[in-house]
Amino acid sequence: MSTAVLAEELAARLPRRVRLDVPFGDLSTYRVGGPVAVLARVTNTAELEGLAEVVARHRPPILVVGRGSNLLVGDGGFAGVAVVLEGEFESVELPAPDAEPAVRAGGAVPLPVLARRAADAGIAGLEFFVGIPGSVGGAVRMNAGGHGRETVDVLRTAAIVDLLADGAARSARRSVEQLDLGYRHSNVSASDVVVSAEFDGSRDDPAACAARVAEIVRWRREHQPGGANAGSVFRNPPGDSAGRLIDASGLKGLRVGGAIVSQKHANFFQADAGATAADVARLVTEVQRRVADATGVQLVPELLMVGNGFDGS
Ligand SMILES: Cc1cc2nc3c(=O)[nH]c(=O)nc-3n(C[C@H](O)[C@H](O)[C@H](O)COP(=O)(O)OP(=O)(O)OC[C@H]3O[C@@H](n4cnc5c(N)ncnc54)[C@H](O)[C@@H]3O)c2cc1C
Repeated sequence: MSTAVLAEELAARLPRRVRLDVPFGDLSTYRVGGPVAVLARVTNTAELEGLAEVVARHRPPILVVGRGSNLLVGDGGFAGVAVVLEGEFESVELPAPDAEPAVRAGGAVPLPVLARRAADAGIAGLEFFVGIPGSVGGAVRMNAGGHGRETVDVLRTAAIVDLLADGAARSARRSVEQLDLGYRHSNVSASDVVVSAEFDGSRDDPAACAARVAEIVRWRREHQPGGANAGSVFRNPPGDSAGRLIDASGLKGLRVGGAIVSQKHANFFQADAGATAADVARLVTEVQRRVADATGVQLVPELLMVGNGFDGS
């Protein structure tokens, strides 16, 4: 791929929306990582179509970025096209008071915004999203969950644009069954862009919804650290919790360079100012090794690590 030609064609389709060599730290909650070669910010369906036509021809590596709250890009950066949704993809459509309590949200809507807007409208069931600092697209891709619920429990359909598909096959609506959602899993591929999703709720008193939202916010503040992190680093093994295993292995406070295992929640790793993605990645490997030695359990990362620089590349 010639990045220069690709970037030029994209810039012609998306004036003022394409930038080169953008530090990934600006796009993620870890605030680390090297540059993405091409960053395209897309504000509406026509722009996404234009992007898809160029991308389908050049077929570069693609990284759709939501709130960057589950992503670690290596210090060597990402040598492809990163796509960020904005504008029309940030809208929430609430039902009329007498209509069925379904909410439609664009792929870029922050999950806490979705939770609060639904609660204000007296639509119950989406409160758990207030504690997850991702986007609607990221939630569908990851089947994000917490407080006893997962995206699969409330999702009805997702509208998806496959950037590498041709013409008519590019846009499709997948039902929740067709998305193959499991524990932090879906069949949303790297070239799929979730542009919107529909969620089912139920009617309730807005004050009762707001109280549940407030309780989740309170619980998160009490149990989870702030600062630069990406939530749970490892998936919970069947019947156990990764945080418990890390804590039981005596690893709270373990540090590699600027990355440290949180004292507040052992499955959260924090990146200090000046930390690198390699620091975080090395801490992930070190914790994995020590937990395996201490408990015999091989932890599997939930954090998605992409791009170059993890292996010296
Ligand atoms: C403090 C903190 C607490 C957290 N707590 C939880 C929790 O309780 N439960 C939980 O499940 N997760 C939690 N997370 C992790 C994270 O918020 C979720 O995984 C979330 O779903 C990621 O959404 P995102 O928009 O940030 O996705 P990103 O991190 O940007 O991307 C994650 C994946 O989704 C893809 N993606 C993003 N947007 C789209 C889109 N529009 N279309 C297609 N693919 C897309 C990306 O390509 C990537 O593969 C937490 C993170 C933090 C920082």
